[in-house]
Amino acid sequence: MAAPVIDAHVHLYPPDVNRDPAAWAAVHGESQWSRMCVRTRKATGRPVQDFPSVDELLRDMDAAGVERAVLLGWYWQNQTTCVAQNRFYAECVRAHPDRLSAFATVQANAGEVALDEVRRAKNDGLIGLGELSPHSQGVAVDDERWLALMTLAGELGMPVNLHVTEPESAAYPGRVETPLADFRAMARAFPQVRFILAHWGGRIWRATGEAGGRLPGNVWVDTAATPLLYGGGEAGIWREGLAACGPERVVWGTDYPLALYPTEPDKPTMAGFLAETRMKVSATEAGGLLGGTVGRLLKTSR
Ligand SMILES: [Zn+2]
Repeated sequence: MAAPVIDAHVHLYPPDVNRDPAAWAAVHGESQWSRMCVRTRKATGRPVQDFPSVDELLRDMDAAGVERAVLLGWYWQNQTTCVAQNRFYAECVRAHPDRLSAFATVQANAGEVALDEVRRAKNDGLIGLGELSPHSQGVAVDDERWLALMTLAGELGMPVNLHVTEPESAAYPGRVETPLADFRAMARAFPQVRFILAHWGGRIWRATGEAGGRLPGNVWVDTAATPLLYGGGEAGIWREGLAACGPERVVWGTDYPLALYPTEPDKPTMAGFLAETRMKVSATEAGGLLGGTVGRLLKTSR
């Protein structure tokens, strides 16, 4: 029997964010998030995303045939926002343990306060860290506060999802450079941490490293936002990524509720991308990619 489908890259926001995202961001000093998520696309005039409730997410999962979603936090500028998101996610998981898992988010610059929040979130049922972006959150990857955070993730057995920008991708509002060498260095420095590098890890296999193009043993990549970042139609990124990483190192994620098909407004993100994925990969590859691999990864995180 095929493993249940798991969407490993989903974002949700608390009701007070959803009510008026732009106003909320202004009041809470989250300008970076606002630039990326609360805007319309110039080409289509449509919002880049909606702000669904947890019930709407569950309905979209049902419609797509997705069994479980992994809720990822955002790389917020402020630690207080991270705490609010973690509390909201803990509630979501308590209400729907059969459908939802969640990762915690922190602002590493908050130092001990961030480390305490990770411990608290773990006790509250959150099972990983992410989506974090040290580059966007203004903390150097060799800063001792970042190193302490990764050390703790390793001690607690929490996988870490990191935002990675493809070096060759087009400009978009809020785009931040994330040098691929930094991720290789992190994976080497923290062999006990399982890293999931978002957006195909920015094609990290193309970066030259000590081990050539191969992925370090503790690194996975996810497929979030593939149609937007790597174009639809062509099988290019799928063939290149699966060959370079090995199919057992790629986990399927959408970046829901981001609109992945802006020029096809009737094509829903989750169901649409699942159908597209099934066309792009073989049945054998699909088993691990769509849920088997991340299912194993999450099981060892509980
Ligand atoms: Zn994301």
